Amino acid sequence: MVIKDFLRQRKEEGLLRQLCPASARRGCVISFNGKKFIDFSSNDYLGFSCHPRLIEAGKKALDEFGASSSASRLLSGDLLIHHQLEEKTAHFKRKEAALVFNTGYQANVGIISALYGKSDCIFSDRLCHASIIDGIFLSGAKHFRYRHNDSSHLELLLKKERGKFKRALIITETIFSMDGDRALLGELACLKEKYDCQLMVDEAHATGIFGENGSGVVEEEGVEKKVDFIMGTFSKALGSFGAYLAASKKVKEYLVNTCRSFIYSTALPPPVIACNLAALDLVGKEPWRRKSLLGCAAYLRDALGKKGFQIKGCSQIIPVIIGENPRAVKLTESLQEQGYWILPIRPPTVPRGQSRLRISLNYFHDQEILNRFIEVIANVRD
Ligand SMILES: *Cc1c(COP(=O)(O)O)cnc(C)c1O
Repeated sequence: MVIKDFLRQRKEEGLLRQLCPASARRGCVISFNGKKFIDFSSNDYLGFSCHPRLIEAGKKALDEFGASSSASRLLSGDLLIHHQLEEKTAHFKRKEAALVFNTGYQANVGIISALYGKSDCIFSDRLCHASIIDGIFLSGAKHFRYRHNDSSHLELLLKKERGKFKRALIITETIFSMDGDRALLGELACLKEKYDCQLMVDEAHATGIFGENGSGVVEEEGVEKKVDFIMGTFSKALGSFGAYLAASKKVKEYLVNTCRSFIYSTALPPPVIACNLAALDLVGKEPWRRKSLLGCAAYLRDALGKKGFQIKGCSQIIPVIIGENPRAVKLTESLQEQGYWILPIRPPTVPRGQSRLRISLNYFHDQEILNRFIEVIANVRD
């Protein structure tokens, strides 16, 4: 399709995406053109992005090492603090080793395509993130998608297809980014063993929030030994930037030698690494943040349900299913007029007819903010 026609069609369908620069963002307040909004769309779940400890750590590293790592890890970009972060991450995720990646996108694309190839097969939950899909595509492995959180469908596919391939991987997010619900890790771990597969999870939205130590859903369910590859990011609840894989030492060494998105990219800058280290410290030191966040999420889900909204999920991500796209867009606009920044999630990110508002809570959304919001959203809908 010609670019011009594509853009016109997207516009006619109300699906044209546009950038929208904020002039400021702090806590849960975001400003556009001097107008302030309560921000319900960021992934800064614990409010770490403006935590004094992160800011201080970042500044100190900037003074000490400068702004850039200046080379890839395998050249001269590899600093001791990168290794400190990897040791701390491995410990946090209770795995032998960890490898830091520049982004979650690069991690998924690189890890999957380095570990699997044409003679292998990969089974992914239908709602998995685009970076997982792209990684599978790049690997050349045969891809099977099972229905969301449907272990019997997965088993059906495994029974039929597993025998035709050399190696097999099952992959899921632990907290799903658009539905806010969680994977059935126990069931996946059983199937992995029964059908001789490996298991990989993406904890992008769980890291820092779930589990006794805030390590994620894998920790909460005690399945560290059964999950071969635990991937996650520093860019969401940890308030900073970058990603990691926690796995065995052998897998780490293999990826250092083969993973193209790791090898052919400049190492994360020292201030970012220092912020990530500070964030991991804070997850241990300030557990009340995740407790308060999950308490508020339960409260809001319950209150919106009582007002008759169709709510999904069981986490800090609260999708309010609206249905057709124009309705979701209109509701968003009304909420923006009332001072709330919430974005509609639309096709192709979610299936047609399931357009939704994705409310993403953070530590700064207190009871008062939530109560007022519940009144407003019920009013603008009616
Ligand atoms: C955000 C996200 C990523 C990508 O992480 P970035 O660090 O933003 O590139 C990967 N997987 C999931 C499930 C995500 O939500």
